[in-house]
Amino acid sequence: PTNGVSTGKDLFTVNSPNVEYTDNAIKSKYTYRTTSVTQGSDGKLVAVPEEKVYDLKVDRKLGKVGMMLVGWGGNNGTTVTAGILANRRGLVWETREGKRAANYYGSLVMASTVKLGTDAKTGKEVNIPFHDLLPMVHPNDLVVGGWDINGMNLADAMDRAAVLEPTLKSMIRKEMGTMTPLPSIYYPDFIAANQGDRADNLLPGEKACMGHVEQIRKNIRDFKSANGLDKVIVQWTANTERYAELIDGVNDTADNLLKAIENSHEEVAPSTVFAVACILEGAPFINGSPQNTFVPGAIELAEKHGAFIGGDDFKSGQTKMKSALVDFLINAGIKLTAISSYNHLGNNDGKNLSSQKQFRSKEISKSTVVDDMVAANNILYKEGEHPDHCVVIKYMPAVGDNKRALDEYYAEIFMGGHQTISIFNVCEDSLLASPLIIDLVLITELMTRVQWKDASSKDYQGFHSVLSVLSYMLKAPLTPPGTPVVNSLAKQRAALINIFRACVGLEPESNMTLEHKMF
Ligand code: NAD
Repeated sequence: PTNGVSTGKDLFTVNSPNVEYTDNAIKSKYTYRTTSVTQGSDGKLVAVPEEKVYDLKVDRKLGKVGMMLVGWGGNNGTTVTAGILANRRGLVWETREGKRAANYYGSLVMASTVKLGTDAKTGKEVNIPFHDLLPMVHPNDLVVGGWDINGMNLADAMDRAAVLEPTLKSMIRKEMGTMTPLPSIYYPDFIAANQGDRADNLLPGEKACMGHVEQIRKNIRDFKSANGLDKVIVQWTANTERYAELIDGVNDTADNLLKAIENSHEEVAPSTVFAVACILEGAPFINGSPQNTFVPGAIELAEKHGAFIGGDDFKSGQTKMKSALVDFLINAGIKLTAISSYNHLGNNDGKNLSSQKQFRSKEISKSTVVDDMVAANNILYKEGEHPDHCVVIKYMPAVGDNKRALDEYYAEIFMGGHQTISIFNVCEDSLLASPLIIDLVLITELMTRVQWKDASSKDYQGFHSVLSVLSYMLKAPLTPPGTPVVNSLAKQRAALINIFRACVGLEPESNMTLEHKMF
């Protein structure tokens, strides 16, 4: 069962002198067109069209891919694993509303389509699955493993999560029961004290050390060889940690960070130890939680090793809506003046976030999401002006994984009038996050096979270590140092699709459709 998307065979080919297909690769010569703006001494702006030619190459050999999750026994870890098993086996189960079949709804790659072009005869749009734009791994083929500080097997952990239907659980229970997380590292100061009773599956030691880095690297190597894998991608879906303090000489450079780990400095978080291990092992590492795992030293280390990293914090519910709605309001010329966001949830994530330091990480991640959109409109907002924005999260055990997000958007409209938009969003948190975990792995895996060169370079090279193309899936997108963050959901999707299109020598989708306007 492949849920409608193809399994590696090309759904289309591009017929262009700039595109070449070989057995191993798709090569394209792509002209990237931009606009460079300067300001003259008279204050006038001058816009100059510019273009640059890139050679792009996508390796067509998919290989066998493993996904290792840190926090595998949690709500997200168990739900995404169960979802992949159910899809792989094409399961159909009874619910009180009738039969339900496994699907990948909520996955950009697996359940959304993109416009390829216009039908030569009818003039209608031709849309294809996103997954078919470039050769991509199918999630049914991922081998899943990981770590958890709690040693419960995945069948019992799936029951604890209380997310999936009992009928579905009974069909996968046996297979889930054979999976047990590897022991992990636990530095109690970084997650909420209320998580202490889960910590029963631990590597010895309560502070960062090279022994931990080496053990995690060995786990990745062993997982790879035991399953005959070509590559492993690691994702942090463990508890939200507190922020690590940024200290000169400790986590400011790659060398200092490695030294700090050797010296067991108390400001090195478990997630940073995982990131360092993955970077050194050449396994891409993505951070799905809000904490500052990627301290400057970790980013520098990734750059040094040409290893891929991505983050931070899955953008699943409230913030995803925000990054679409705020983009719409401000770009419609409506002056948003206040965003009030209230959440309550009853899962273990909510319990962990009921602790102030961990909540603070989430608050920061949720707060920066409108900044670029506000800064882009100097008609509505003066320099430094910003809408009021508050984020509240409360732990309410009774609602379990069914998170509630209540948002009020208050805006100033024409002639001093007001508009209030109130949103009440209820959803199973882990059912929104799981498809993002899959998208992050599939796109990251693809990026390990994409290379570029330009007129000044002899050899092909990979994209920058910090994979900002993952921004669509992330609340506080990490970008290469010194480059801007784009939060708008529509821009993030367009960037992703147009980079994929460039890889097969196709122009960006401009939505101009002149063919329907000028004839
Ligand atoms: P969860 O509490 O159910 O799962 C987290 C798991 O991580 C637990 O099983 C815990 O035992 C384990 N863990 C904690 N520290 C660990 C360590 N050092 N090593 C290995 N395992 C460790 O939480 P969840 O609902 O699955 O969410 C996971 C993370 O994803 C949270 O940080 C959450 O903030 C983030 N997140 C979730 C969503 C979403 O679910 N919609 C959205 C954005 C971000």
